[in-house]
Amino acid sequence: MIFEHLDTYGHEQVVFCHNKDVGLKAIIAIHNTVLGPALGGTRMWPYDSEQDALNDVLRLSRGMTYKNAVAGLNLGGGKAVIIGDPASDKSEGLFRAFGQFVESLGGRYITAEDVGIDVNDMELVYRETQFVTGVHQVHGGSGDPSPFTAYGTMQGLLAALNRKFGNEDVGNYSYAVQGLGHVGIEFVKLLAERGAKVFVTDINKDRVARAVDEYGAEAVGLDEIYDVNADVYSPCALGGTVNEQTLPRLKAKIICGAANNQLVNNAIGDEVEKRGILYAPDYAVNAGGVMNISLEIDGYNRERAMRMMRTIYHNLTRIFEISEREGVPTYMAADRLAEERIQTMGKLKLPL
Ligand code: NAD
Repeated sequence: MIFEHLDTYGHEQVVFCHNKDVGLKAIIAIHNTVLGPALGGTRMWPYDSEQDALNDVLRLSRGMTYKNAVAGLNLGGGKAVIIGDPASDKSEGLFRAFGQFVESLGGRYITAEDVGIDVNDMELVYRETQFVTGVHQVHGGSGDPSPFTAYGTMQGLLAALNRKFGNEDVGNYSYAVQGLGHVGIEFVKLLAERGAKVFVTDINKDRVARAVDEYGAEAVGLDEIYDVNADVYSPCALGGTVNEQTLPRLKAKIICGAANNQLVNNAIGDEVEKRGILYAPDYAVNAGGVMNISLEIDGYNRERAMRMMRTIYHNLTRIFEISEREGVPTYMAADRLAEERIQTMGKLKLPL
């Protein structure tokens, strides 16, 4: 049954990591290493079942292959999940045991932070293996990736504005930004600096107040964000917010934000295209974070990181060109760009 799964997704290797003494149950999935070692974060989550954990790690690791490929990185895709509650199940032993498993893969998998994991956990993993990014800056880490993700999102937006309106005058357009967390608030700041009209919403009132007071944004209700008269809808909170219920309400001509998995499914991606809305594929737009940590592998350099973020503009432009040339929606064009790059590297044919 497991190999059937691996056939479907095209994985190279899946490692089940077990250490009874420290209560470690983890799965590391290496999807594809054609472009280089598999880079992807470790998620800690109290999964309802082991099957759910396996499904999640297979899906997420495959996503990393595509994200890293489109980002132009010489890195493959992988991901790890630790089954457990981040609020109660963390211990030094757990993370060090996990680090030993990462080390045992000899660099085929490089880990990083993801949901439920913070830099202090990564420090413990780092004691057992060098194949880890997202450690403290004193160890050559790159710190919080969110400002880079926001800057990368701005590069994606510039490419989208150019494609849709033939200019990059950010300040001439209006924006509906959903989610004012680490990335969202930085993105609002970049928009405000360029003189843009910005509508914002967040479940956290303090964050909304900050966007209003510091950046002159206009607050709207949580549900109202889908109805505002904005040129660009920018999801920066949850996934799946572009769906059957919300899409008919959107007035935006562009969807461009940092959230992962914005389209609830591919059919919605087709519908977005049909309605003439330009969708800037999420994993191409929000690659700033992974680009930033990728630089830790060779020794982190902030200047290089900023230059790298700017390649997001070109990646998006290429995706829009493929979409037009091949007559496919942009979400599909992004996948094609990734697959083309991997196939050009030639060593392994992905099941497409
Ligand atoms: P975060 O947790 O700091 O912020 C998320 C914000 O969304 C919070 O302020 C939260 O209150 C708000 N929110 C939650 N539900 C909401 C709702 N229904 N309506 C409005 N607001 C809501 O997360 P983040 O690091 O800013 O990441 C935002 C998104 O970008 C996530 O989808 C994340 O996966 C993705 N992303 C982040 C990075 C990064 O560098 N942090 C990189 C790539 C992708």
